Amino acid sequence: MSKQPILEINNLHAGVENKPILKGFSLTINEGEVHALMGLNGSGKSTLAAILTGRDGYDVTAGTVKYLGQDLLELDPEVRAREGLFLAFQYPVEIPGVNSTYFLKAALNEVRKHKGLPELDAIEFLALVKERMKLLELKDDLLKRSVNEGFSGGEKKRAEIFQMAVLEPRLAILDETDSGLDIDALKIVSEGVNKLKRPDSAQLVITHYQRLLNFIIPDFVHVMADGRILKSGDKELALELEAKGYDWLIKHT
Ligand code: ADP
Ligand code: MG
Repeated sequence: MSKQPILEINNLHAGVENKPILKGFSLTINEGEVHALMGLNGSGKSTLAAILTGRDGYDVTAGTVKYLGQDLLELDPEVRAREGLFLAFQYPVEIPGVNSTYFLKAALNEVRKHKGLPELDAIEFLALVKERMKLLELKDDLLKRSVNEGFSGGEKKRAEIFQMAVLEPRLAILDETDSGLDIDALKIVSEGVNKLKRPDSAQLVITHYQRLLNFIIPDFVHVMADGRILKSGDKELALELEAKGYDWLIKHT
């Protein structure tokens, strides 16, 4: 059986307040695939992630985005999440007093209800949480904290990968923080991505660091510049980029 497309972006043009940012961006992601989207700061990577998850303030001026065959741009952000689209950091940055476990249980049960599956009770949810924490080799002090409250960069990444492990999205979008991650955080992200790879789901890993790709082996690597994909390839492209830099690619395409 051929692979089903999860995401099909065709000639997307979008921007903020009359400023064009995406200028003809096209990308298809099929089931079972890990895609790495790379590019210098300012090339439009985070804008793409924001549009895919439905953040306010962006205007799509041309092009189409299909998610599981539906017009993604027509779906409310909550519906996108229920349909299995996951963006790290899509959740509120700080909700003091709301325990992250409670929050995650509600999010998971939303997804399950939407799929026609029974909701998990507290005991079942805890069993799932323990199993996923073991899989990711996480310590359970993570659970006792409020959602993203006072988390360091590495802890945020850990919490994010953990959310992903529990929610089991069809499409996970992991956007790198611009401030950068230390090597431990990079390893957490990449081990999570590797362990959570499933044949019916896909991952889009956004980064401007070639380093991340020492740990994740993506099926496809895309290099973005000025709002569109300049070149696509396999992991060899990332190595080439590491050796020769972005300038080389921008000059030679
Ligand atoms: P990347 O994630 O690749 O670093 P971004 O998508 O964050 O790139 O930004 C692409 C360009 O769009 C940059 O020039 C940035 O300044 C601009 N941009 C992004 N978001 C906004 C916004 N909300 N308002 C104005 N300009 C923005
Ligand atoms: Mg960015």
